[in-house]
Amino acid sequence: MLPNAAAPAAVSARVGYLGLGSNVGDRGAHLRAAVAALREHGVEVEAISSLYETEPVGEILDQPDFLNAAARIRTELEPEVLLDLCKAIEVEQGRMLGGQRHGPRPLDLDLLLLGDLELETDRLTLPHPQVRSRRFVLEPLLELDPELALPDGSRLAAALEGLGPGQAVERVQPWVCR
Ligand code: AMP
Repeated sequence: MLPNAAAPAAVSARVGYLGLGSNVGDRGAHLRAAVAALREHGVEVEAISSLYETEPVGEILDQPDFLNAAARIRTELEPEVLLDLCKAIEVEQGRMLGGQRHGPRPLDLDLLLLGDLELETDRLTLPHPQVRSRRFVLEPLLELDPELALPDGSRLAAALEGLGPGQAVERVQPWVCR
């Protein structure tokens, strides 16, 4: 039978990776709430890394350490819709809109990779611009998928090996609530 030209094309789900971080309040509770909220909105959370205690990196170093993790997801949401969902969940967890960039925050939910998409809009860059340079991103991602590569084929394990000193990251405990 010929395909029906009027039928909408089937939307295929993409596998993606999110970075989660918190350094304000009950950090673990914020990360768990983020995963629960993603699931409530239909995002399939396939796997979550251990929790990592990490020192602040970036423009503001004088702030509490972060608790970080990474999640592998499967979703049919288009990238900017997924970004909007991440931003809404951050606000739900008490993040102030317009707060200081790189400053303390109850929840940071970053879209690191989404399938093989490479894009740059006013609001969204994929892969995330810092995915190769942040140890607190690379270590949890590689725990989930040691062979993970960017759409251009470059392996994240090579990016981690190439990082200079600094950016202390310590794996502290497995994710408890799957
Ligand atoms: P952040 O301070 O990490 O929450 O990010 C600030 C802004 O970065 C967000 O409001 C986004 O519009 C933008 N952004 C660009 N690319 C990404 C991405 N891959 N994931 C999350 N935010 C992004």
